[in-house]
Amino acid sequence: MIWRATVLTLFPDMFPGPLGFSLAGKALASGLWALEARDIRASATDRHRSVDDTPAGGGPGMVLRADVLADAIDAADIAPDRPKLLMSPRGRPLTQSQVVGLAAGPGPLIVCGRFEGIDQRVIEARRLEEVSIGDYVLSGGEIAALALIDACVRLLPGVMGKLASGADESFSDFLLEYPQFTRPQEFEGRPIPEVLTSGDHARVAAWRQAEAEALTRSRRPDLWAARQASAKIGQKRPKDTTDG
Ligand code: SAH
Repeated sequence: MIWRATVLTLFPDMFPGPLGFSLAGKALASGLWALEARDIRASATDRHRSVDDTPAGGGPGMVLRADVLADAIDAADIAPDRPKLLMSPRGRPLTQSQVVGLAAGPGPLIVCGRFEGIDQRVIEARRLEEVSIGDYVLSGGEIAALALIDACVRLLPGVMGKLASGADESFSDFLLEYPQFTRPQEFEGRPIPEVLTSGDHARVAAWRQAEAEALTRSRRPDLWAARQASAKIGQKRPKDTTDG
């Protein structure tokens, strides 16, 4: 069974969008993963095909109706082992270790909200897990869903080949990635750090580790603290690769 994302949206034409390009797009075309974008509006029942209504209790904007969205979820008829996600700024912020977990499974159903969001009752009745991509508010869940799917797809076996260097990347071992360089040897008076052209693999590794640690300490004290804590209690740190 290939990894599959099933997206419920009012704008199915937004998919695959950017995921139709580059390595993810090639992998999609060659069947290494699958994407199904389903139109929530197809589940509207009244003659205006309405999917939203004014918020109970008043206030601005519109809310996606529970009955229409529940029907759309049921019509997608997904296997019970697939995660059911709702993109939402109220959700748990997405992390690389969650992405690794999602990429290792069968692939999620993803509900994209619009307007002021969706009726609370469908979140509970269909046990949707709310996932945020950060502490800011988008106008809809589609761009968030694309971000989540992209992060998963690049980890699927065969999608990036040897490029899926997950173990080395930002967030593995609670570290940001070390700086990268390539040609030219000198750019506007700035040479590539000498150690990287020395051919001494041990020195290169030590330099990269030190850079990654310094960068993490100064830019992401939260990540650094988590790293220290995990080292202290002797936990196994999460590895962010499924490597295939
Ligand atoms: N009124 C809501 C925001 C609705 S934004 C609130 O204040 O919480 C409309 C839709 O965009 C949401 O239903 C959600 O699907 C999506 N969205 C907005 N910001 C998001 C974020 N940071 N992460 C994931 N989805 C987001």
